[in-house]
Amino acid sequence: MLKNTAFYSQLAEGVKELSPYQPGKPIAALQRELGIDNIVKLASNENPLGCSQKVVAAISEGARDVHRYPDGSAYELREAIVEYHAKPSVGLSHITLGNGSNDVLELIGRAFLNAGDHAVYSEYAFAVYALTCKAMNVAATEVPAKAWGHDLEALLSAVRPETKIVFLANPNNPTGTWFDVSAWEWFLSRIPPHTLVVLDEAYAEYIQLQAYPEGVHYLEDYPNLIVCKTFSKVYGLAGLRVGYALSSIEIADYLNRVRQPFNVNSLALNAAVAALSDQAFVEQSRVVNSEGLTLLSAGLDALDVPYIPSVANFICVDMEQAAQPIFQQLLQKGVIVRPVTNYGLEHFLRVSVGNTAEIEVFLQALQDILS
Ligand SMILES: *Cc1c(COP(=O)(O)O)cnc(C)c1O
Repeated sequence: MLKNTAFYSQLAEGVKELSPYQPGKPIAALQRELGIDNIVKLASNENPLGCSQKVVAAISEGARDVHRYPDGSAYELREAIVEYHAKPSVGLSHITLGNGSNDVLELIGRAFLNAGDHAVYSEYAFAVYALTCKAMNVAATEVPAKAWGHDLEALLSAVRPETKIVFLANPNNPTGTWFDVSAWEWFLSRIPPHTLVVLDEAYAEYIQLQAYPEGVHYLEDYPNLIVCKTFSKVYGLAGLRVGYALSSIEIADYLNRVRQPFNVNSLALNAAVAALSDQAFVEQSRVVNSEGLTLLSAGLDALDVPYIPSVANFICVDMEQAAQPIFQQLLQKGVIVRPVTNYGLEHFLRVSVGNTAEIEVFLQALQDILS
């Protein structure tokens, strides 16, 4: 950061140390650089099936009305969310919509965090928690990970009486690790009742393990719990930007106070309603992902390349050497994956589970580079 430039001293304290979130490289950017068409992008955990055909129809129908402002209360989508969860703890007033769940995380920060407050999250946790805390000039404790995952015992020990928020991702991105119901219940029941627990479930729909604890079941007993959900991953709506938080009515009221009235656009609202109505698409996505995870892991095993076992739609692969040059060589072969150096994982590349053809292109390119 250039400190002697005109407006540096004018910056909000928290923004001085902020660096922007590093997104995956867009396909079009690599196309421009290499002048080739057949790019494989496995960098942003997008759904290789695309989205539901019902979504495509809902968007074309909605196109006629783009001159209208969206429904600022998002009534239809909130109704669809209520129906989907079908629990007394999820009524219309328990929902806060976001322009992606990243927006929800920021709303939580804006509503609850003051400069100097304390927050807690894990080493290797999703980067947006640190960004949110930094932007608000919050002193955060980053708790060392255990086997790359969240160490809930250590996280609890880091919580102080004045801790405002604990951020958790289950499963976590970029590591693909998860914590089970017993660790979660042990943790949640010991957190001070005034400390907010933000549970980010961006990949929850991919998981079908008996011991996986879904946050929605705990809202009734824990009014300090906020569960974040997104349409970007299994529903395949990453480009539309829509996600939501489930919480107590009181917390939803506070979050909606800082929410911009039209933070979710009308096409995204239509699309999300249609997406929820097509659970067959979600099931198909789960099947494709589970087969893809098996194929990708088997391919890495065959190349003798280690990785962190994942329950999500990506795998964090251990190159056992600086990963950045391998990332660059993959780009030259038209394959975009995600370096995770910004997480302190210099030897790792995060690879999304694509379709069979994409996985095979990636594995072949990696084999060529390593041999
Ligand atoms: C992808 C992801 C999100 C979702 O972000 P959106 O803003 O909803 O697209 C949230 N949390 C984690 C951990 C993610 O990996």
